[in-house]
Amino acid sequence: MELFKEIKIAKLGEKVLRKKAKKIKDIKSKKTQELISDMKTCVKKSNGVGLAAPQIFISKQIMIISSQPNKRYPNAPVMKNEVLINPKIIKKSKKMKKGWEGCLSIPGIRALVPRHEKIKIKYLDENANEKIQTFEGFIARIFQHEYDHLIGLVFIDRVESNKDIITEEMYFKQL
Ligand code: ZN
Repeated sequence: MELFKEIKIAKLGEKVLRKKAKKIKDIKSKKTQELISDMKTCVKKSNGVGLAAPQIFISKQIMIISSQPNKRYPNAPVMKNEVLINPKIIKKSKKMKKGWEGCLSIPGIRALVPRHEKIKIKYLDENANEKIQTFEGFIARIFQHEYDHLIGLVFIDRVESNKDIITEEMYFKQL
């Protein structure tokens, strides 16, 4: 028999989604490593392409980018799971692009969100190694979406017009 720990997702209205997340100082501790493992399980089970710790009620600066085609994002590019801790934006393109986003914390809707097309970031990985990476397109979009969760924002805060918000049902009909 396998036992699954139930991981609850914070939905819009929970205060934790509006808080600024704290920096992680003990990456190699059992607690942080368990959090990383919980986040990996959670993002996979819920067909997400990314997850930020505040979404599972932990107000800490850690996110996972896990892009691959799935039920919720059939056109997502394939990318290795990436754990990003205490991320910082170093550079971002002036050019913005609107694209569709959804969020496990705001089920049932999708919205067109303007994001920087290209972004250069600095972060620590799960082994506490410092990394610098440049993301573009959909991956840059995921990063900016998850980064917002670390500073108390959600994607609907970024839409230009309420008319850019639609139900998930309609979104899948227009695909
Ligand atoms: Zn989200």
